[in-house]
Amino acid sequence: MSQLQRIAIAPSQRTETQIILTSEQQHYLGNVLRLRGGDRFIAMDGQGHWWLSQLSTALNEAQILEAVEIHTELPIPVLLLIAMPKGNGMDEIVRQATELGVTDIVPLISDRTLLNPSPQKLDRWRRIIQEAAEQSERQVIPALHAPVNFPDALETWNSANSTCFLCEARDHHPHLLTLLSSSTLPTSPIILTIGPEGGWTETEIQQAIAAGYQPVSLGRRILRAVTAPIVALTVITSVFESIPQPSETV
Ligand code: SAH
Repeated sequence: MSQLQRIAIAPSQRTETQIILTSEQQHYLGNVLRLRGGDRFIAMDGQGHWWLSQLSTALNEAQILEAVEIHTELPIPVLLLIAMPKGNGMDEIVRQATELGVTDIVPLISDRTLLNPSPQKLDRWRRIIQEAAEQSERQVIPALHAPVNFPDALETWNSANSTCFLCEARDHHPHLLTLLSSSTLPTSPIILTIGPEGGWTETEIQQAIAAGYQPVSLGRRILRAVTAPIVALTVITSVFESIPQPSETV
C-alpha cells in the first residue's frame, strides 16, 4: 500500500463508492503522476480516513475499493504556537512540524516578530502542509490558523484544558523531556510555544506563565527559531511513541 500515491480530497468529493476528482486533481494524477484509467491510489480526507481508490478511464472520478486502516497520529492533539521567523523559515517549520505529527500550527505575532504574512503566504504554507501530510502518511492534515497576537493566543490556548509549555532559551528551566517523562503523560492537548529569533520579552514570559504555561528548556545551546520546534516535537513524539501501544504488545 505504501508505494501507492496519495492525494488529499475534500470530504464533499466523496460518496459511498466514488470520488469525484477536481480538474486540478485530474491534472495531477494524469499529467504529473502519469496514472492511467484502472491505476490505484490512496485518497485521504484529512480527517483520519484513507481509501484505496481506482481511477476511471476518463480520469474524472475514482471508484472506492476499500477503506484503509492506518495509525500514524499521536494519541493527543499537539498545537504549535510559533512566532514567525524571517525569510522562508516558516516553510521549513510547517513542513517539518507536519512530518512530526503536529495537529495545529498557529503563527504568532510577538513583540519581536516583524512579519505579518500576506494571504498568499498563508496559502503557500497550507499547500506545504498538505504535501508534507501526504508524504509522511498523516491521517490528519494539520490546520494552519490565522496569525494572532501573543496575548490573544494566550486567551484562546491556555492551561484551562491543555498542557502548555513555553520554550525559553535563557534561565535554567527544566528540560521538556524531564517534565514529560517524570509524570504520567498528558491526556489533554499539548500546547507548545516557540519564540522569535530575538527571543521572548520578559512581559511575554510573565503573560504566558500567568496563562498556565510551564517554561521549558530544550537543552543548553541556543537553537535557531526553525530548529527549536523540531527538537521540541521530537521529544514529544519520542515520549509518546516509545511506549508500546496496546495493539503492539504481545
Ligand atoms: N535570541 C534569543 C533566542 C531565540 S531562539 C536569545 O538569545 O535568547 C528562538 C526561540 O527558540 C526561543 O524564543 C525559544 O522559544 C526557542 N529556543 C531556542 N533554544 C532553546 C533552548 N535551548 N531551550 C528552549 N527553547 C529554545
